[in-house]
Amino acid sequence: MLTHNLIIPLLTVSIGVLVHGDVEFVHHNNTMLASVLQKVHNRCPDISRLYTLSETSVSGVPLYVLEFSDVPGKHQLMEPEMKYIGNMHGNEVLGRELLLHLANYLCNAYLAGDKEIIKLIHNTRIHILPSMNPDGWQTATDNGGDDYLIGRNNANDVDLNRDFPDLDRLVFSGARDNNHLMKNAKLDYTLQPETEAVIKMIMDSPFVVSANLHGGDLVANYPYDESNGNSETGYSSSPDDATFRSLALTYAGNHPRMSNVNTPGCESNENQFAKQGGITNGAAWYSVPGGMQDFNYLGSNDFEITIELGCEKYPPTESLKQEWEDNKKSLIEFIWTAHMGIKGVIRNSATGVGIHGAVIHVRNVTRTGKYTRRDQDIDHDVTSARGGDYWRLIPPGEYQIIVQAKGFEPQAKLVSVSEPSHETAPILDFELQPLAEETELQPLGEDTGVPAEEDFYQDLQTQQNIEDMMYYNNYADKMEEFNPNPDYYSTI
Ligand SMILES: [Zn+2]
Repeated sequence: MLTHNLIIPLLTVSIGVLVHGDVEFVHHNNTMLASVLQKVHNRCPDISRLYTLSETSVSGVPLYVLEFSDVPGKHQLMEPEMKYIGNMHGNEVLGRELLLHLANYLCNAYLAGDKEIIKLIHNTRIHILPSMNPDGWQTATDNGGDDYLIGRNNANDVDLNRDFPDLDRLVFSGARDNNHLMKNAKLDYTLQPETEAVIKMIMDSPFVVSANLHGGDLVANYPYDESNGNSETGYSSSPDDATFRSLALTYAGNHPRMSNVNTPGCESNENQFAKQGGITNGAAWYSVPGGMQDFNYLGSNDFEITIELGCEKYPPTESLKQEWEDNKKSLIEFIWTAHMGIKGVIRNSATGVGIHGAVIHVRNVTRTGKYTRRDQDIDHDVTSARGGDYWRLIPPGEYQIIVQAKGFEPQAKLVSVSEPSHETAPILDFELQPLAEETELQPLGEDTGVPAEEDFYQDLQTQQNIEDMMYYNNYADKMEEFNPNPDYYSTI
């Protein structure tokens, strides 16, 4: 009897959870999508915020974003921001469903006291936009959802993943700057409202990492997406190739099929992508000009990859549960990549106030042998956010971090980065000394407030040279921190 009495309340509890807390494994239409997000938010009001982007779709459907954070609606100093965008191609619908389940899972796990998820949400601001192209979804669904192209574009028949300013062209034609190239872009067309809304979203928050979920193949794709030159394919590596490979491997390696060589390829039994760990350089596959992925990298501080979730763009309802199971770990682990590398705050040493727009340059000085080190500049600088906070995703290794801001002495520090492990990134702060009036250097850049790369190096040279600057910053002393071997000093 006792057992019987115990079972009934347990059953009631689990049924209660099913009714109130679970998202069904079905294809949610645009109204249902909004309702799922609203319900998740209502269950987790303290750690989420539901908002819409600045523009609606062409047909007037709001672009809903559910944000998770311990302080929803606010950027917190040094807390990295990440985003997921799904269903940019309207007929590629799996990402949209996975993101609804992800939102539901984050909320449920938090409420259930899952320590890892609580830690993740307390240390990361996560933005989830399940559908960037709700009009295309409607068209694809109304047409049976089985066509390779119907519903791909938005209601103006524009492919949103070709509608972003083509910043790769600026890089390939020798742009002076190596980041934040939007200011140099000349648009000779009107952006689609969905594109405009997402560009504003990108520019509005200091995103560190993101993924764009597509379908039609099974692979994690990383920049550059556009090939340099006229060829249709060819590996097009970005300065952060190692970081991007690591990001793509995080997704692919946690997916049971993406990196498994026994998974048949979409085109043939041979699975070329799985042999590469489930990842591919975008342009090595096929060139995409005007894509969202490269725009994030070249127009902001955000490192974005593109996930192709499966051969079928519109998978049957019956497969959705298994798809969620297969992608759940990848989706969570990828959020943790926002904590890869280093972060910190750059302040004015005289006032203690954070410096916005400081330029953070990275040189890889990882040891290659007992007496040898790399000396490799990563020619993609990130900039500090409004509070002077910055994040720099870099793989494990030893680095020199050089920070420069208009009106301040540059400063360099050394840091050793270890394997990521569900911890927040190590903090490397900088206190920059304001330049005295009379010794002020040539003005930097034009009127952007951000120095152009050329000027940056000229300024380093006016500090004698880069080697001298290392000594100003106790290069030799700090070397000891990550190189206890005294033999090393004979090589400095
Ligand atoms: Zn796509």
